[in-house]
Amino acid sequence: MKKIVVCGSTGSIGRQTLDVCRWFPGELQVMALTGGSNIELLAAQVREFHPAYAALADESRYQEFKELLGADCPTEILAGREAVQELAGLAGADMQVAAISGLAGLDSVLRGLEAGLDIAFANKETLVAAGALVMDKVHSSGANFYPVDSEHSAIWQCLDGRGDPASLVLTCSGGPFKDAAADVIAAATPEQTLRHPTWDMGAKITVDSATLMNKGLEVIEAHWLFDMPYERIEVVVHPESIIHSMVQYADGSLLAQMSYPDMCLPIQNALFYPERRANELRPLNFAELGKLTFRAPDTGRFPCLRLAIEAGKAGGTAPAVLSGANEVMNAAFLRGRIPLGGIYDGVAAVLDKHENGSAAELADIVAADAWARQTAADWLAAQGV
Ligand code: NAD
Ligand code: MG
Repeated sequence: MKKIVVCGSTGSIGRQTLDVCRWFPGELQVMALTGGSNIELLAAQVREFHPAYAALADESRYQEFKELLGADCPTEILAGREAVQELAGLAGADMQVAAISGLAGLDSVLRGLEAGLDIAFANKETLVAAGALVMDKVHSSGANFYPVDSEHSAIWQCLDGRGDPASLVLTCSGGPFKDAAADVIAAATPEQTLRHPTWDMGAKITVDSATLMNKGLEVIEAHWLFDMPYERIEVVVHPESIIHSMVQYADGSLLAQMSYPDMCLPIQNALFYPERRANELRPLNFAELGKLTFRAPDTGRFPCLRLAIEAGKAGGTAPAVLSGANEVMNAAFLRGRIPLGGIYDGVAAVLDKHENGSAAELADIVAADAWARQTAADWLAAQGV
């Protein structure tokens, strides 16, 4: 029995992690669940998986949550940021699934590593903002750090141990606006943006996928996970989302990992590595697929991709500022305060004002993130929205 802690269990990756647990009854023991504020879903998960502990980040709903579960619930129910972090490094657990969205997940990832837990890692913003710090912790803790993001899981699966890869090729669906004109993309509404053609994900990452900011964040994530210079990471648009990413070798061989798009597969890979278990997923049918297509990304229509890669290359606190400002703009877009194009405008304006500095210490990252959020809020206020 592998004992797991699911951080962010009520989100898209969290729910799909529990789907994988349902596929393999008796093999994965859910020791703890943590969620943000969705008490109904977290309570249903507690009733089904009987974890020893469950924590809700939103303390204001603690009483309601406890009442929902009833006095005779054997799970210990906790609330607040500190409780969430405590469970993230729970003694006796083998692995943490890091599925909180945004930099809010950083503390949980660090806590898990400090406790020596292996990490099934989805929470990319944490690596974008604090890549050097997190990877240092990974190496000093000796913990395994398994990627869950589909592209990074694909690359990990294609690293065959026969020499360093010459380059990494990240695939990108292109999102819902892959064929749209620049003015249509810039004016897009949340309703149009939340209709992703191939992946069903949380709202924040779905918006990031529409601007291609997500792909830029993933280039930075790949840089840290695989210790790969930016010059050797390429992005290619592949609308069918069948090839999840590729590794190019010096001898001209290129290895690709393919499947129908379903996050349960990379999650399962991280949970059961190195084993490959039979599951409920449909194998690829090439005759049915017919063809796979590819094209270069258009950074003219999707300037967030360029902006993110530039911030990655600049290093220091620039990626933390990019990611923090993007979280603010993304949320403002989802609340209808700015159009989709406002995300690029706002994040670029914040980066313009930023003076780059060292990101060696946790305090540097926390300060850069707070500065970025405040500067982003000021920019929004100056727009009168
Ligand atoms: P989501 O919004 O659906 O879920 C986020 C989870 O984090 C929820 O359980 C929420 O309650 C919790 N959470 C949010 N703020 C919190 C806080 N302050 N404290 C504690 N918990 C908090 O997001 P998601 O789509 O599941 O994505 C999670 C992470 O995985 C993101 O970093 C995303 O980029 C990455 N990712 C997601 C997918 C996908 O298919 N959804 C694919 C690849 C990578
Ligand atoms: Mg991805």
